[in-house]
Amino acid sequence: MNRDCEKQGIARRDLLKLGALGVVALGLGGMPRQARAAEGAPTALSPDEALAKLKAGNKRYVSHPELCSIDLAAQRSAAAAHQAPWATIISCADSRVPPELVFGGHGVGELFVARNAGNLVDTATLGTVEYGAAVLGSPLIVVLAHTSCGAVKAACDVVTKNTTYPGAIGPMIEPIVPAALAVKSEAGDFVNNAAKASAKRTAARLTAASTLIAGLASAGKVKIVPAIYDLKTGVVTYLD
Ligand SMILES: [Zn+2]
Repeated sequence: MNRDCEKQGIARRDLLKLGALGVVALGLGGMPRQARAAEGAPTALSPDEALAKLKAGNKRYVSHPELCSIDLAAQRSAAAAHQAPWATIISCADSRVPPELVFGGHGVGELFVARNAGNLVDTATLGTVEYGAAVLGSPLIVVLAHTSCGAVKAACDVVTKNTTYPGAIGPMIEPIVPAALAVKSEAGDFVNNAAKASAKRTAARLTAASTLIAGLASAGKVKIVPAIYDLKTGVVTYLD
């Protein structure tokens, strides 16, 4: 972590970040690291190194969950003035899937997390992930589905029972319906199969919907990986 950046005020740093976003918005996608240089270094981890670190963290969480305790006070102090997250996680809002714990006790300043029911990518999430990758330099994006997901089950019920939902819940789960339709006839658990298919579709959508992320991915600077978390075992399985 670059300690020099801790001397900078938050307002100035945020302005610099917005400046970097401006560069990106102008189509100079190859420049964000230079634009970011004044605010502090991003992580030095490669996409594959970041993925290996997540895998090791999940193993630790499954085998020795007691080791997931962390010194939050020290982390908070170290990360207060500058963040250099080394992985971005799009996960479900489900209370049983906290990414910081699932991946082995990563606390403050390590993971850049976007959560919503069904781990989907709407405009807000897409912008969040673009910011993490292009401005903060996070080299890995994990779309983290999970077993027995309520949002996915709701979409499956739309397919099998034509169920309707109140408020914004129906429109929210709509993007999961094509995944549910695609796996409807497959053997095994319908909801979990749909969760896997939806995570893959969401991962694909990141590059289809964002030229910024597509450019970083094709340059090898960002890796995108769909995965599913097992609520019972705690194991994260990668789907690529
Ligand atoms: Zn869920």
